[in-house]
Amino acid sequence: MMNGKTDVKNLTLDDLIAFLAGKGKERYRARQIFKWLYQKDARSFAEMTDLAKDLRRDMEEAAIISNLEPEALEVSRDGTRKYLFRLEDGNTVESVLIPEEDRTTLCISSQVGCAMACEFCLTGTFRLARNLTAAEIVNQICAVRRDVPVRNIVFMGMGEPLANLDNVVKALKIILHDDGLQFSTRRVTVSTAGLVPEMERLGREVTVNLAVSLNATTDDVRDRIMPINRKYPLRMLLDACRSYPLPGRRKITIEYVMIKGLNDSLEDAKRLVKLLSDIPSKINLIPFNEHDGCSFKSPEQGAIDVFHSYLLSKHFTVITRSSRGADISAACGQLKGKLDKSVASI
Ligand code: SAH
Repeated sequence: MMNGKTDVKNLTLDDLIAFLAGKGKERYRARQIFKWLYQKDARSFAEMTDLAKDLRRDMEEAAIISNLEPEALEVSRDGTRKYLFRLEDGNTVESVLIPEEDRTTLCISSQVGCAMACEFCLTGTFRLARNLTAAEIVNQICAVRRDVPVRNIVFMGMGEPLANLDNVVKALKIILHDDGLQFSTRRVTVSTAGLVPEMERLGREVTVNLAVSLNATTDDVRDRIMPINRKYPLRMLLDACRSYPLPGRRKITIEYVMIKGLNDSLEDAKRLVKLLSDIPSKINLIPFNEHDGCSFKSPEQGAIDVFHSYLLSKHFTVITRSSRGADISAACGQLKGKLDKSVASI
């Protein structure tokens, strides 16, 4: 609600049907409006010319259509584009578009800041300011799509999506719906630091790919770099991976940030293979991106190569992520849109 008005961008199609039913309107009207919002990118009810005039007027009185416009856009030498969005309350979030030959991936944020406090992550050094609304999540996609076609969506920007599950599920229902943003389940991935009960709930409520930021092969190391592990240790996390209902015959993406001298040894690679032996998974190795918030170092190329080859030799699908957009601080773990707010408020 905003000024007593409902933001229709916060409504799934079912919510919109219920909203209109409350006004005595038929359900097909909701589909019409939904399509206007997401397929024709309508910014006002006045544009919705196939709706009766009185319905358009009723909607204008009862509802608003929120929107995000990028306040700044930085383009990296490698083509990565970082969008900065300012929200109604002055907070900012960032989305990063990573162009690749056949698939452009948009990395979106789900919270302003983050409460997970992972030791290696810059976002974790800011506290959680607040959750994003479903509208703010969806509007990042709507805004970037006006600029560049988007093929894949990953919830790997700022925040822990499963700590904002209600709004993330709503946003996913809009993103995945045929009358909404029309993304196929194969092209949408939610990434988590490992909130076990919420992984189960996500799987029950929507069909979507899952990525898990594993980042360590022992509870000792994981406890240290990811405090959430003290609540949901590796055994519980891997059980939740095993029972996660993936779309079709997909695999879970295991993200593994390699940090020099901490988790980048051949022993780690061997333990990783054992941990994942009965989990259909593909592994993303992400060499740690150094930043001022943390004294960890990137691994040597040699260590990355040994780790990568070992996993390959055990028949895993492995991708070593190159550090895209590092020159504009758009690389993994480097988003810092929150910074200007915290600096401003000092
Ligand atoms: N909270 C979710 C979504 C954030 S995704 C999650 O934890 O999955 C961000 C990804 O970037 C995570 O896999 C995280 O492990 C990784 N990451 C964070 N900081 C990083 C850094 N400095 N260098 C490389 N990867 C980093």
